[in-house]
Amino acid sequence: MRGYQQASYPEPLLIELKEKGVGYELPRWDGVREIVELVPERLIRRSPLQIPNVSEPEVARHFFRLSQMNHCVEAGFYPLGSCTMKYNPKLGERLTTTPHLRGMHPLQPEDSVQGLLSILYELQRYLAEIGGMDEVTLQPAAGAHGEFTGMLMVRKYFEVRGEGRDEVIIPDSAHGTNPASAAMAGFKVVEIPSNGRGEVDLKALEAALSERTAAFMITNPNTLGKFEEDILEISDMVHDAGAILYYDGANLNAIMGWARPGDMGFDIMHFNLHKTFATPHGGGGPGSGPVGVKRFLKEYLPVPIVVKEGERYRLEWNLKHTIGKVRAYTGNVAVALRAWAYIRVMGREGLKTASALATLNSNYLRHLLEGILPDPYPGLKKHEFVLSSSRDGSRGEAREIAKALLDFGLHPPTVYFPLIVDEALMIEPTETEPKEEIERFAEVLRRIVKEMAPAERGRAPERTAAGRVDEVLAAKRLLLTWHDIEEGKA
Ligand SMILES: *Cc1c(COP(=O)(O)O)cnc(C)c1O
Repeated sequence: MRGYQQASYPEPLLIELKEKGVGYELPRWDGVREIVELVPERLIRRSPLQIPNVSEPEVARHFFRLSQMNHCVEAGFYPLGSCTMKYNPKLGERLTTTPHLRGMHPLQPEDSVQGLLSILYELQRYLAEIGGMDEVTLQPAAGAHGEFTGMLMVRKYFEVRGEGRDEVIIPDSAHGTNPASAAMAGFKVVEIPSNGRGEVDLKALEAALSERTAAFMITNPNTLGKFEEDILEISDMVHDAGAILYYDGANLNAIMGWARPGDMGFDIMHFNLHKTFATPHGGGGPGSGPVGVKRFLKEYLPVPIVVKEGERYRLEWNLKHTIGKVRAYTGNVAVALRAWAYIRVMGREGLKTASALATLNSNYLRHLLEGILPDPYPGLKKHEFVLSSSRDGSRGEAREIAKALLDFGLHPPTVYFPLIVDEALMIEPTETEPKEEIERFAEVLRRIVKEMAPAERGRAPERTAAGRVDEVLAAKRLLLTWHDIEEGKA
């Protein structure tokens, strides 16, 4: 079996590689005096710049070696459930780095950015069409930020109506950001249990709904990869109670082009462009979490939104009940551009095919893993599925499997989420993986679970740049710059 071999690092910091000096000497320029006169006195440098004294090839090699210390979707399989780690087409990168788009400034007059505004407008319309919504804002910077934006709109909506609704109901299978966003927006979170099928328990929902309910937040397919079969009934129940139905649309990858949250009765939803729409995730950002709403909530959207009048595009700042701004300008435009390109290139049929293949890949992999790890909620899944690695109530099994996978050049699936599955492995292969790679993953997982001795697994990973790290320490003692290392905090 093909293994994964990385060179022996760690790679030193540039500052450790070479003494400080001036890495590159700019040619003298006669205009420099005029520029210097424009710079305030206190900002003018008095001593030479102290940067590592490295040449261009040394810099290139350094960053190339660093790139090899990490896993990325270009390096191998990346089945991180609920994250939709699909391949990011290079076309999007090329588009956003064209000098014309790169050189734009958000404060340019609208007349001079009509092309860009038309793209943003089109993206708003495409997302509205895909989600079955009426209006869309591109402002939120990520999925959780979209949820928070949605929750602020829910709060304002009931404030304007003079209704003191202060509770948001959330199922126990929800993504952790859902209760966090609701709580941040000032709501009390009411959690309800799932039923035996891993779907919303209608009796529990019935019992939780009241005149205090502002919203019910769910994702469909849910985090177990199951489609909520009772969604229309759920929608009626929530609306009969006078509440708003919120759709967590981070992962639209199973239903895009096939079913629309708006048609299921959802009033607000967010999209994760950095998941479903193939834009990079990049170390926690930049992302983009546009929010779509039904018409009755349009006036609550953050401003500005892009509107079209005749042949002209402009920013609309005037929405009667707007919650204000949630992000500078019109959001992460470079991310929006990539998603626009993706949607344009794929087209309606392409998006449908992507969803169909994502679902097929997920069910094929689930089928290959039958008999290797138990599925506590069996049956057909959508874009992802969750297996339990718990053996007789043992603890730590999911972590051991995840670590062992690393030595095969495979990114582990999401582990320990959703919380309702013991020792969960949440697997999402996405549509861009070939059949052979899915089969290889299943074979590696079989070997790890069925053949590898616990002691052998305990040593993994041995072929990665770093072995087992102290995850708690890493989160608690952040070393974010080389200053921290110079100061001996490491
Ligand atoms: C990823 C995800 C989110 C949060 O999105 P971020 O962009 O990471 O903030 C919310 N809900 C679900 C179901 C997700 O998978």
